[in-house]
This record gives sequence, C-alpha cells and structure tokens, in this order.
Amino acid sequence: MHSAVLPNGKVIGAASYDEQIHGLQINCMDSACGAPVIFIKGKTDMAPHFKTSGHGDSVHKEKCGFARQLSFQETVSKVGEYQASIADNGVRQIAIRLNLNDVDPDYEKQVIERDVKEKEEPKELDEKMLKDKPDTPASISSLKTIKKLFTTVGPDILAGILLHVKGRKIPVSDMIRHHEQAHTALWEGETEDIPYFIHGKVERVTRRGKVWFINFSKTDNGYFSLVIFERHFPHFTYKDEDLIGKEILAYGYLRKNDFKEGQQSSEMIIKSNKYIEFL
Ligand SMILES: [Zn+2]
Repeated sequence: MHSAVLPNGKVIGAASYDEQIHGLQINCMDSACGAPVIFIKGKTDMAPHFKTSGHGDSVHKEKCGFARQLSFQETVSKVGEYQASIADNGVRQIAIRLNLNDVDPDYEKQVIERDVKEKEEPKELDEKMLKDKPDTPASISSLKTIKKLFTTVGPDILAGILLHVKGRKIPVSDMIRHHEQAHTALWEGETEDIPYFIHGKVERVTRRGKVWFINFSKTDNGYFSLVIFERHFPHFTYKDEDLIGKEILAYGYLRKNDFKEGQQSSEMIIKSNKYIEFL
C-alpha cells in the first residue's frame, strides 16, 4: 500500500514519509482495519510503500481493502471510501487524460487525420506508471484500461487519480458508479455533464427495428438501460446470450427517460462493442 495513517489521523503517502518526522507508529489507512504497518524504502525497481509485517497485530483485517485482491466492484467501492482522505491530506494525486474518442465509431475520420499531425499521443496508463512517478503524460483511451487498473492497482493509488475530462479534473471514483447509484443521482440532480462508467448485471436485451435496449436488473427506483440506435447496429455485434446475466462496465452520458408516465428510467446511449467491457 502507498498510503498509511499517522497517530494524528493524517494520511501520508509513502513517497513523503520520513521516520524522523512522522515516527514509527503508522497504521493501515482503511478505517475498517487500522493494522500497524511498516515502511519499506524504495529501490530502483520498486517504489517506497507500506506493508503489514504479518506478525502479531500487523495483519489486515477481513474487511480491509488491502487484505486480499478485490473484485472490480469491491475496488470501486473502496476507492470511493478512500478518495476524500487522499484529497484532504494532500497525498500525491495524478491527473490522467481521459480520451475515449477511439471507441466512438462516428469519430474515426478525424482520428486518421490527427494521427498524421500529432505523433506525440500520451501513453496509455498502466500499473507501472502509477507506482513510479509518471513523468510522461498518460491517458486512458479504453474501458479495458479502466478494468485493468481497477483489478491490478491498489485502491489507495486509484483514489488519488483525477481524470482530466472536458477541461475539468474529476476524481475517478466520482465517474464510476453502479447503475442504481447513477440512476438515483441523475434523478436527484446530482450528476454532471460528463461521461460516466456504469457497472451492473444485464438482465434483459430487447431488440426493436430501430433501437435496441440492454437493461440492467430492475431496482426499486426504476430501470437503467443502455440504448443502441439503428445506425450503430453494425458496430454492436454482441448476441443476447453474450450479455444476459453478465456483469459489465459501460461508458457514456446519462440521460433521463420519462417517456412512460410515473416511471423514472435512466439511459445511456452506446454506439459499439467498445462501449462495453465484461467484468
Ligand atoms: Zn488494512
């Protein structure tokens, strides 16, 4: 882990930890844990970090985000939990450019023109860049990268990521939501005009002549559907059985659908296979 908590409650990043200043009493930053941890100095191939010693109390508790490898969904939840303490304590935050133009089939022509002019595209973010100091600008240009990060990188590091999108820097945990949370936030006016990453389990696929709907499981609050319009059908080749019952991550803008009176539904328009990643 790359952050730990000091006796005064402050969270400290391993890169700025100094035994002389901060003392030896350092603990796991997860509020469900607090196990004593030790500091490990950095080497050329390894960033400084904190770890439990495995002796006595120095073992992560069961509910701790560092106790074991977390699933995608568990990581999203822990990143949300840690995000505020990382930001409030001035622990290193990393701004990453989010550029998903390449997933958009309507964007293709411009990409080809731009490739010739601009060879210096930011590198796709990977695990190594986050652990070392990213001196080259990095970007996220696919849902695969999001999935990979959230299944390989520690939740404390992820909690320090700010995504640069539409001229703003947004904590990554604010942009990845379960469909039920996103639906509630949208109807309560608590979402922004930025793209979101929505995860959940597909319950049903409905294919009409001009539009297809992929429904997440119904909740007490209403429906959440992914919508694909006819002109994008050729770019979306998943069959019903590829989708139904699967946990997926989808990307797009949230939209209210109040077409049916008395029923609040939310939807997200997607245009191709690349707008979905299986979790
Ligand atoms: Zn712990």
